[in-house]
Amino acid sequence: MKFHLSLATTLLLAAEGLAVRRCGTEDPPVELIEKAILFKAMTKFKAGPSSKPVEEPVPRTQTVPLHIHNVYANQTRDQGYITDEDVQNQFKVMNENFAPTGVTFDLKTVTHTEDRAWALSGRGSTAELTMKKTLRKGGYGDLNIYIRPLRGGLLGYCTFPETITEGSDKFFLDGCDVLFSSVPGGATVPYNEGKTATHEVGHWFGLFHTFQGGCSGGDLVDDTPAQGSATSGCPIGKDTCRGDQYPGLDPIHNYMDYSDDPCMTEFTPGQTVRLYQMFDQYRVPQGSWNRTITRTSMH
Ligand SMILES: [Zn+2]
Repeated sequence: MKFHLSLATTLLLAAEGLAVRRCGTEDPPVELIEKAILFKAMTKFKAGPSSKPVEEPVPRTQTVPLHIHNVYANQTRDQGYITDEDVQNQFKVMNENFAPTGVTFDLKTVTHTEDRAWALSGRGSTAELTMKKTLRKGGYGDLNIYIRPLRGGLLGYCTFPETITEGSDKFFLDGCDVLFSSVPGGATVPYNEGKTATHEVGHWFGLFHTFQGGCSGGDLVDDTPAQGSATSGCPIGKDTCRGDQYPGLDPIHNYMDYSDDPCMTEFTPGQTVRLYQMFDQYRVPQGSWNRTITRTSMH
């Protein structure tokens, strides 16, 4: 999902808080979309002349090492600083939200770094790359989250899994950036229950927005109903894709929509299957490079 806002609009959002959820995650890589199409076909039907839905997925669990980095402009609550208690609360919400999928995060590292240039760095900037080359921990199967101020009215952004080269910039940039005031009890009402991190980490696992591509597009997961537009607020009964070919209401309670935090409560079984498919495809085989990474650019 890409946004093109005028500077005036951007400044207004920054001044007045966020009127809509704004995730800055870029469109999925073509490689990932192709893989999702393949997995969708594999998951939905059994082989044979009469296609039948597959059986219920086998229950699964997965522990993911987690590293949380708080990067702030200065040590005040409006310049990006959060306390260790805030970090723990965010960690707790992630584990609660992902519990039905079987995913458990294991918080290995917490860092706090005061650096104005890093804290305010934009995506794709040299400062962002330097920050992540310095702070990123673990392999491609380790989740690194940078909790910091984000400019442009963004709540967060994340990288999708893909085939990468060991030690490349893409490796170091892998992870999620989350607006500091979206943590539980933060100032960005109604996005302050910590579910921005849950949404972004969904992308890290390879999940798309439920509204991706509109009614005729979709997120390539079978059990999330078609959705024509991103949701704002929590409009019960919203149904943007009507007709026999589009059963079900919009999945406004799904973590991969744009609803208010209190409205977001679920990943579907189909999303759960998909996140493991993508994890096994990309994160596990590329997950142990941490022993061989050479850091060439230190702050
Ligand atoms: Zn998103």
